[in-house]
Amino acid sequence: MTDTHSHLEAEVKRRILMTTGLSAGLGLMLMPRRSQAQGATLNLYSARHYNTDEALYGNFADLTGIKINRIDAEPDPLVERLKAEGDRSPCDVLITTDAGRIERARQLGLLQPVSSAVLAKAVPAHLRDPDNNWFGVSKRARVILFNKAKVAASAAPQNYEDLADPKWKGKILIRSSGHIYNQSLVGSLLAALGPEKTEAWAKGVAGNLARPPRGGDTDQIKGVAAGEAEICIVNTYYYVTLMRSKKAEDREVAAKVGLVFPNQSNRGTHVNISGGAVAKHAPNREAAVKFLEYLVSPPAQKYFAEGNSEYPVVAGVELSAELKSLGTFKEDQLNARVYAQNNAEALKIMDRAGWK
Ligand code: FE
Repeated sequence: MTDTHSHLEAEVKRRILMTTGLSAGLGLMLMPRRSQAQGATLNLYSARHYNTDEALYGNFADLTGIKINRIDAEPDPLVERLKAEGDRSPCDVLITTDAGRIERARQLGLLQPVSSAVLAKAVPAHLRDPDNNWFGVSKRARVILFNKAKVAASAAPQNYEDLADPKWKGKILIRSSGHIYNQSLVGSLLAALGPEKTEAWAKGVAGNLARPPRGGDTDQIKGVAAGEAEICIVNTYYYVTLMRSKKAEDREVAAKVGLVFPNQSNRGTHVNISGGAVAKHAPNREAAVKFLEYLVSPPAQKYFAEGNSEYPVVAGVELSAELKSLGTFKEDQLNARVYAQNNAEALKIMDRAGWK
C-alpha cells in the first residue's frame, strides 16, 4: 500500500514537474499540505488538450497569483488516477470533456460539492450537478450533418428519431457505441423515449450505417463530404473546427455539408459539456473554487469555449463568426446528470442493437 502510494507520488511529482518545468528541488508533492501557502498553487487534472487553454491558465495566474500545475491525460486514466491516489491526491480540480466521466467521478466519491453563488448564477441548471459536485464550463451540441449535393435541406432528418427510418439504409455514419458522446446521446433518448423505443431506435440506426463505425467525429464528416454516406451525427465543434481550419481542404469538407439541430419542434438538441469539479481531497480548495469561478467569467468563457469552437455555458458571450453562422437552437433541458447516469443502460442497448 505504502509502496503504491510513494510510487504514485513520485509519478505525480514527475508529471507535474514535466508539465511545469519546475526545478526538481522544490519537492512540491512531498511537502506536507499545511505548509503549502494557501491558494498559491492549483493542481489541475485535465482531459482537455487544446493549446488555446494555455493562455487561459496563464491569465488566471496573472489575475490571482495562483500558479497552475497541470496534468493532462485521457479522461478514464485521470479518474482512475484520482481514485488510486485517494486522500493523498494532489488534485484540486478535475476537468473532463463530457458529463459521463465527471459524473462517474462523483459516483466514485472523488468530488466535493461547492456552494458558489457565482457558479450557480453562471451555469444553467441543466448543465450542472443538482448537488453541485460538478459544473459545465463549455458545451457542445450533437447534431445531424448532411451532404448538400445528395440531400435537400428540407429532406434531411429533423429529429434523432428520424435516423432510424429505413429510408436512410446504408446512408448514415456515426462513430462507435464505445464512445461516451454516443452513450450520452442514447442516455438522453432513454430519458425521452423509454427503454423499448430507444432500443428499437438503436437497432434502426445500426441497420442504417453505411459502414461499421470507425474513427472520430471528424472522420464521419469527411466521409459524408466524400459521398461515402449522406448523413452523420457529430459534435458541433468538429464541424466548426473544419470551417475555421487553415487548410483549404478542411474548409472544402465543411462547405459540402449542411447542419440540422435535431428535435427543434419538441425537446431540443442534445448537448454535452466539458465539466469542472473540485476534488474531494483538494489540498488547495479555495484556489480550486476560484479557478472554477474564473472559468465561467465572460472573458475566460470566450477563450475556453472558443479555443475548441465550443459554446460557452454563459449567455451573452461573443461567438466566432463561424460558430455564429450555425444559428441559434433550442437545447434539451434534460439535466446532464440524468443522461450520464443512463450510460450503462445506453451501452447495453447499443450492444444488443448490434451498434459496434
Ligand atoms: Fe471531442
